Amino acid sequence: MIITDTHTHLYSEAFEEDRSETINRAIEHGISRFFIPAIDSTYTNAMFNLERLYPDNIFLMMGLHPTHVKENYDYELKHVEEMLKSRKFYAIGEIGIDLYWDKTTLNIQQIAFKHQIRLAKKYKLPIVIHCRDAFDEIFQILEAEKGDDLFGIFHCFTGTLEQAQQAISYNMKLGVGGVVTFKNGQIDQFLEKLDLKHIVLETDSPYLAPVPYRGKRNESLYILKVLEKLSLIYNMSIEELAEITTENSKDIFNI
Ligand SMILES: [Zn+2]
Repeated sequence: MIITDTHTHLYSEAFEEDRSETINRAIEHGISRFFIPAIDSTYTNAMFNLERLYPDNIFLMMGLHPTHVKENYDYELKHVEEMLKSRKFYAIGEIGIDLYWDKTTLNIQQIAFKHQIRLAKKYKLPIVIHCRDAFDEIFQILEAEKGDDLFGIFHCFTGTLEQAQQAISYNMKLGVGGVVTFKNGQIDQFLEKLDLKHIVLETDSPYLAPVPYRGKRNESLYILKVLEKLSLIYNMSIEELAEITTENSKDIFNI
């Protein structure tokens, strides 16, 4: 069984003490493909170190996270471009708009999001979208940029069925993680109406741990709790779900 965690911040300080143990624990349970979203230039070296230690398991993305779009965003976007020129990455992410933490930067968040979508098209890469309190703003940009050359993952999807269908119409797969196990998580109510070919698994660790670990540090191993829940929703075995969602991740990342 090969399980793919399409979104984990394994370079995070939260794994400082036991990073290798955490990764090995996951690999022992079949979770052996980890896709690593970028945040900003301060994490780039840590990402490279991770890849050096687990070259067969770690796949890096490059991008500027919306909550890190600040006054220096020009410098940060140049860093993204330089990195893309210098070596292989598997996606542009995570990118998008976040109006939960800071509404005052909306304008530059929009500029950075659009700019990075163009980079994804140029390098023929998928995008990995971070959306918080910003569905309208994100859909507006996707509507303007849509086409065969735009595809990717709507990471940590938390919208309605209609918003899910709209995201899918822009060639996006939905990243499903711990939220599906939450009592108030909503998406468990309609997920069965969506074909599994649109779903990929993720943890977003160290954030968003599934029940019964909610509120604690999340790690890739806990993706098994997400699979247990999906197995109830889709009435399918964990093995089948792992296979289908891993295939979906290969369609997106081309590896
Ligand atoms: Zn993330």
